[in-house]
Amino acid sequence: MSKQGNIGVTSENIFPIIKKFLYSDHEIFLREIVSNAVDATQKLKTLASVGEYKGELGDQTIRVTVDPKAGTLTVSDRGIGMTAEEIDKYINQIAFSGAEEFVEKYKNDAASIIGHFGLGFYSTFMVSKKVEIITRSCRDGAVPMRWSCEGNPEYLLEETVKEETGTDIILHIDDDNTDFLDKERISGLLKKYCRFLPIPIAFGKKQEWKDGKYVDTEEDNIVNDTRPAWTRKPVELTDEDYRKFYRDLHPMSDEPLFWIHLNVDYPFNLTGILYFPRIKNNIDINRNKIQLYSNQVFVTDSVEGIVPEFLTLLHGVLDSPDIPLNVSRSYLQSDQNVKKISNHITKKVADRLEDIFRNDRPQFEDKWDSLRLFIQYGMLSDEKFYERAVKFALLKDTEGKYYTLDEYKTLIKENQTDNDGQLVYLYTNSIEEQYSYIQAAKDKAYSILLMDGQLDVHLVGQLEQKLEKTRFVRIDSDTTANIIRKNDATHVELSSDQRSALQEIFRSQAPKTEKTDFHISFEALGEKANPVMLTQSEYIRRMREMSAMQPGMAFYGEMPDNYNIVLNTDHALIKKVIADQETACAASLDPITADIKGWQARQTDLRSKQDQKKDEEISAEEKEDLENTNRKLEELNSLRNVILAQYAADNSLVHELIDLALLSNGMLKGEALSKFIRRSIQMIDPGQ
Ligand code: ADP
Ligand code: MG
Repeated sequence: MSKQGNIGVTSENIFPIIKKFLYSDHEIFLREIVSNAVDATQKLKTLASVGEYKGELGDQTIRVTVDPKAGTLTVSDRGIGMTAEEIDKYINQIAFSGAEEFVEKYKNDAASIIGHFGLGFYSTFMVSKKVEIITRSCRDGAVPMRWSCEGNPEYLLEETVKEETGTDIILHIDDDNTDFLDKERISGLLKKYCRFLPIPIAFGKKQEWKDGKYVDTEEDNIVNDTRPAWTRKPVELTDEDYRKFYRDLHPMSDEPLFWIHLNVDYPFNLTGILYFPRIKNNIDINRNKIQLYSNQVFVTDSVEGIVPEFLTLLHGVLDSPDIPLNVSRSYLQSDQNVKKISNHITKKVADRLEDIFRNDRPQFEDKWDSLRLFIQYGMLSDEKFYERAVKFALLKDTEGKYYTLDEYKTLIKENQTDNDGQLVYLYTNSIEEQYSYIQAAKDKAYSILLMDGQLDVHLVGQLEQKLEKTRFVRIDSDTTANIIRKNDATHVELSSDQRSALQEIFRSQAPKTEKTDFHISFEALGEKANPVMLTQSEYIRRMREMSAMQPGMAFYGEMPDNYNIVLNTDHALIKKVIADQETACAASLDPITADIKGWQARQTDLRSKQDQKKDEEISAEEKEDLENTNRKLEELNSLRNVILAQYAADNSLVHELIDLALLSNGMLKGEALSKFIRRSIQMIDPGQ
């Protein structure tokens, strides 16, 4: 029997469409024909197991060969084969999917049939000028058939000679795609798409080194692992099996922290192994390490849209025939099955973490530092996960101890509640840089959290919203006395002259750095505390940090850094600055101060008189008088400030104090640092 005809498609000519638009990735044709071969082989196995096929199954290895001279790539299987009618039905009428019908018939046995690839077979025309099928059906007395088609709606179907049951698909690769005749290329593609297919796939022979060159051995070069770890039962697997599988998948990664073996068959089908990697910093470089399979056929390694974003940080394999494969990502996101699957995975991940936390807390703590970015990312981006994780997410203090949120709350409740009833969580982002603040806080028996992770600033914001009456404050954002405001604040005893003099002395000598503002404030912190401290507003600092990571917050990035220079009025050195200044400047300042007093009295007097009158009742002379007085006072004050600034400019104690405060914040650098060193040496040894 020989037959010529037209391929039964509704559109005029489907081939140009296939060639250009079907898949942007031409290489997937290989996945399609190899998975068809796998289907056919599994179908035959199924038939044999239900007794419908009585012949020998024989060696079922699928063979892939390239012949660069002939320009062909061939995939041969020992599967079910096709009769002429079947070719007609399954190949010629391409809208018809044979797999679907088969699955319908053998529902219970043929669960693993790959059949979701739509125009699978015809994808070969993306790379071929001609495709041949040489096939012999497994049915008794079947006539072997040869089908061929040259990428147009005409095909040829004729009888042929073929001894064994099964199918050879022969692609005559077209001139634009000769790279698919390259052995290395094909080997790479088999590795990518066929690595875990359930039927052995041979690509050539294993080679050995003989007489100065590589030669083929007798042994098939099998490219796949037919029973990858995720398809096996967890009880069959040791920890080492899981680790080995991880190394196979991600040879460049560190050992995983732990893993989850997924196995669901209702209401959807999902298997897989997800590994928790060690994420040290930068979450972005860890993405896209999950590979998605459909019945062991590789589909993609970018799973965004399929699993919640934070889960893309996990590594491993997901396998589900229920995820629609050849559809757009936006479709995936709204697909109900995909939603269910992704909720399920989130739940399993949370279950696993909670399980380890409850049953093996030491291990959980031990791995927390490598896990936290993942967990925090989940908490920040997925409400459901937050609700689960809030039970096992840990906080770490500067001593390296770990607490759950609840435990920590209990720990600090007593000592760290401020006079507004707010619970104050103190934290540092660098034990080294904020050492002196930490020490001072410890002296007050405060507990300090170490929050030095990439997401901590965001987490702090989230926790403040979620937890009631809770505030997070970085340890350097206020003096230790005031960081948790209680009722025992002490009074600063300075006259207003002393205040304004000190203010001017330090303000005039504060560093002049672009985009950095310094304010002077006074506090009575006790004789033992440092004379000068630098603090930084929590709010502004946090906004700046967040703006660095988030677009749309550039405004905060433009704001100047704000520091407070806090002078401890109890400290002997600050008292000395005041006393020294009073002595040194007495001659030049006393007359000015007296003058100022006089003019101030006059100002008060004039103001109170004018306050009693309506505007129209105040005469021009009276107005002028007040203006003159104001101006005079301004002049005198600025004169006074000039004298104080001049005095301060030459005062090494003032400079030393400011520098020490900067130094303890790691802010003394470059020229300022070397000046400080020189000055310090001179102060220790004035002979220098
Ligand atoms: P699908 O695999 O989704 O059914 P394909 O276009 O890949 O779609 O294949 C169409 C049909 O052609 C298959 O369902 C199967 O019946 C038949 N077929 C393709 N390749 C083979 C093969 N190697 N052996 C037997 N039948 C095959
Ligand atoms: Mg197919």
